[in-house]
Amino acid sequence: MFQKILIANRGEIALRVLRACKELGIQTVVVHSTADADAMHVRLADESVCIGPPPSRDSYLNIHQIVAACEITGADAVHPGYGFLSENAKFADILAAHNITFIGPSGDHIRIMGDKIEAKRTAKRLGIPVVPGSDGAVTEEKEAKRIAAEIGYPVIIKASAGGGGRGMKVAHSEADLEVALQTARSEAGAAFGDDAVYIEKYLQKPRHIEVQVFGDGFGRGVHFGERDCSLQRRHQKVWEEANSPALNAEERSRIGGICAKAIADLGYSGAGTIEFLYENGEFYFIEMNTRLQVEHPVTEAITGIDLVHEQIRVASGGGLSVKQEDIKFNGHAIECRINAEDPRTFTPSPGTITHFHTPGGLGIRVDSGVYSGYKIPPYYDSLIGKLIVHGRNRVECMMRLRRALDEFVVDGIKTTLPLFRDLVGNADIANGDYDIHWLEKYLAKEE
Ligand code: ADP
Repeated sequence: MFQKILIANRGEIALRVLRACKELGIQTVVVHSTADADAMHVRLADESVCIGPPPSRDSYLNIHQIVAACEITGADAVHPGYGFLSENAKFADILAAHNITFIGPSGDHIRIMGDKIEAKRTAKRLGIPVVPGSDGAVTEEKEAKRIAAEIGYPVIIKASAGGGGRGMKVAHSEADLEVALQTARSEAGAAFGDDAVYIEKYLQKPRHIEVQVFGDGFGRGVHFGERDCSLQRRHQKVWEEANSPALNAEERSRIGGICAKAIADLGYSGAGTIEFLYENGEFYFIEMNTRLQVEHPVTEAITGIDLVHEQIRVASGGGLSVKQEDIKFNGHAIECRINAEDPRTFTPSPGTITHFHTPGGLGIRVDSGVYSGYKIPPYYDSLIGKLIVHGRNRVECMMRLRRALDEFVVDGIKTTLPLFRDLVGNADIANGDYDIHWLEKYLAKEE
């Protein structure tokens, strides 16, 4: 087992990882920018190293500074959290070259999944169902038209290097296609330095359902069930649930089984998430994330398994603590992402939190890095905490969520808490009846 883990992240996820390390008796080092000197994870860590000024590229994305911090403190492993360097293959390779363990998959697996054309090709080869579309990059208009006619309109043109919901264009007819192809290519080139784009069928009312997988480092793969993350705004997840209200046990074990086998065949090691769109009973792969997800706590709530413990165990060569047959799904869990944003306009609302009171009681978990008197710096994303609620079934979970939202107090800044108080009373949400467009339509109506 590792002696000392360096946590290369900030905010709630840095604290989340720190807690797992403490439970496992592992020393912790955190790195932070000058803007985060007062952060909770810095206060609670055994050691901390300031690695630069506020902008991420000079601190949390500065590979040389982070490697230097490992050498100075003698850390033998790095947990990257999510975002920042968590899906940076070069970072994983550099750590390996310094004999420091990257708590995540190999650089090669990160590279494959970071290139969406390659990821889709790999998924298809591994027997994962994919969205019908082009086999690789498409550059010629003629070819684009031929493929679109074959799969049928509407189609979506996506950047191979895309991420964060950027670099996508929908074409509803052949007349739209030329412009969509050209704009998608030039936007991809400008945003990602790679103008490769591909075409797939545009699904009209899908849900976003993702499967939590793990490779144990010995060639075995398991799945921890799915999460439904259909409630999104601008392709950003807002509310996540496990299990999905749309799947039955048979569908769950079928798609889970396909994913676990794919992970084993790939020789993948560590945590991963295979994302699908789901429509009319069919799953369509869209991408794989090779890291821990923001929404992992809903899976932890229904399985009772600490996924960060498992990541650390696998990275240290100790394998998973559970086999597939040990993983049982109990009840229902929902996560609300609480952002420091205006709940109507979604503009960021940094500043000082004058009062912070979190709900408690059975089935409630709050993962947050903030506290009363904490000043939210304006340089990073606006997630300040996550409320995760667990109940024996979805109805109980929703009742408990409503109660927990009433108890939650964040004064001094604006947050998205009022949005969740509205959503928890909505009939479609109560029925689990929503697709990936539901939230944007709802917000448009509210304006
Ligand atoms: P990113 O890496 O930018 O997040 P994804 O491939 O995961 O890109 O897609 C992000 C979102 O875009 C999906 O959650 C879905 O809302 C939408 N999307 C992507 N592909 C399709 C498709 N073929 N049909 C309909 N919507 C899509």
